[in-house]
Amino acid sequence: MIRLKTAAELASMRRACEVSAGALAAGGAAVRPGATTKDVDDAVEAYIRSHGGIPNFKGYNGFPAAACVSVGDTVIHGIPAKSHVLQEGDIVSIDTGAIVEGFHGDNAYTFPCGAISPGAEHLLRTTRASLFAAIAAAQPGARIGDIGHAVQSYVEAEGYSVVRDFVGHGVGAELHEAPEVPNFGRAGHGARLVPGMTLAIEPMINEKGAAIHILNDGWTVKTKDGGLSAHFEHTVLITAEGPEILTQWQVDPWNS
Ligand code: MG
Repeated sequence: MIRLKTAAELASMRRACEVSAGALAAGGAAVRPGATTKDVDDAVEAYIRSHGGIPNFKGYNGFPAAACVSVGDTVIHGIPAKSHVLQEGDIVSIDTGAIVEGFHGDNAYTFPCGAISPGAEHLLRTTRASLFAAIAAAQPGARIGDIGHAVQSYVEAEGYSVVRDFVGHGVGAELHEAPEVPNFGRAGHGARLVPGMTLAIEPMINEKGAAIHILNDGWTVKTKDGGLSAHFEHTVLITAEGPEILTQWQVDPWNS
């Protein structure tokens, strides 16, 4: 069942999403050569707690950290570690969110670590742009398939692949609610979008093939072929006037 949010619930969700966006920026500010992925997670968790939130990923199905920090060919669900030192040229996806007043925010961004290759930069810019194409498609009266179609057509035109094994989702009182929001699909198909829906739209895009594999830690999702992967996510509210981004990023290196 898709749960539409009341005005009071949306007031709480807005606060949760604001803290989530701040946490993402705090994590991004910690990305630098020589830092560890644990440093990034520490910055995220400190931000969330100091702003009255609870890290929603920590303990979720046993996940041990406040942020997923996924480097290079890691698609999603990278576990932060003191032993993982970031290198110049890495691409670093941070996915995190906060619970505030019982509601969840969820957002992700792929940051550059120092100077990155032109190929990596193109992947990040394209994946970011596909998210905004998807959000533009999330109009009241449109369908879930319109969102996926927007992502898929945008990135496949650049020769990239859409990850099929993981998808976006509704978000609200639970981190993951109905409906699923795939990053592929057919325009005009799927559930209809109506005002009051809150969706986490999150393209996960691979430089080469779409296939993934999961490491023995049970979490880390990598590309099967070792190609790079990027991930950008916003929590979006469907309103009568159109989509509204609730997790406005405070830093956005690829906004040009
Ligand atoms: Mg999500």
